Amino acid sequence: MQNIEKNLNRIRARIAAAAEACGRAPDSVLLLAVSKRKPVADIRKAFELGQKHFGENYLQEAQQKMQQLTELDICWHFIGAIQSNKTRNIAEAFDWAHCIDRVKIARRLSDQRPAGMAPLNVCIQVNIDHEDSKAGIELDAVVELAAAIHELPGIRLRGLMTIPAPRADFTDQRNAFAQLAAMLVSLRQQGIDCDTLSMGMTQDMDAAIAEGSTLVRIGTAIFGDRI
Ligand SMILES: *Cc1c(COP(=O)(O)O)cnc(C)c1O
Repeated sequence: MQNIEKNLNRIRARIAAAAEACGRAPDSVLLLAVSKRKPVADIRKAFELGQKHFGENYLQEAQQKMQQLTELDICWHFIGAIQSNKTRNIAEAFDWAHCIDRVKIARRLSDQRPAGMAPLNVCIQVNIDHEDSKAGIELDAVVELAAAIHELPGIRLRGLMTIPAPRADFTDQRNAFAQLAAMLVSLRQQGIDCDTLSMGMTQDMDAAIAEGSTLVRIGTAIFGDRI
């Protein structure tokens, strides 16, 4: 816990360096602190150090934390898989959902988003390496789902999200992210307005930023290993 300040400073410097290395502004990359399986005290600490965006994977755990942190103006991102029976709570409590891969879930989130709230920001999760173990859709199914989401009033399509298979080589990491970046360009060309590439974790964030990531999801490098 005493390392959070050092870790946050280090990760901010790493984001800035990766952005500058490819001629991007450091503030064009949003840092999402992934706090799953970490205590509320860690979130509080990071918030005091200026961290505003937090990501959680498990609804129950997230709800318990939110209840203890209501006084903090945190922007909450749901970055786990979404089952139908979870959509109402997610629509009511979160600002973002990153793992949309079915129109049915998108419709429920839109219908269940409370009227007084801004639309829920969503990303379509792409299974870039066709892994059975991962959620997400194939690249060639993105346009159809994006077009459907575009019509829904309660949610707002912000872009694409992916978790590539681990690759040791920097160029290989970049190649995976480049496919997602190209798809975002393609969506825009087809008149679907979106601005977010949610890609890059502790191990591959530098490659993701080189390929245009606008949001990196970082857990371990901020909060330490998860047990
Ligand atoms: C856990 C998780 C992260 C953070 O991963 P680290 O390797 O700890 O940085 C990012 N994105 C998703 C979807 C996750 O589940």
